Amino acid sequence: MMSRPVSATTTPCPSCRRPAPPRPENPEFPFCSARCRAVDLGRWLTEAYRIPTTAPELEEDEAPVVPDPDGDG
Ligand SMILES: [Zn+2]
Repeated sequence: MMSRPVSATTTPCPSCRRPAPPRPENPEFPFCSARCRAVDLGRWLTEAYRIPTTAPELEEDEAPVVPDPDGDG
């Protein structure tokens, strides 16, 4: 049996939540693979670009009252 000892301190990949191998053998730590790192980076950039627009909808308060054509004359 050549099963390698699994380290008990495996960090879950931030992208796919699968256990990522530790640093020495995994240059993409804390991600499990370069693909997951790219995915997470892309997601981060997407959220960074998406600036929350909290501009309140300025509504014209006190709208001009439409004169009643059938008013008292
Ligand atoms: Zn992953």
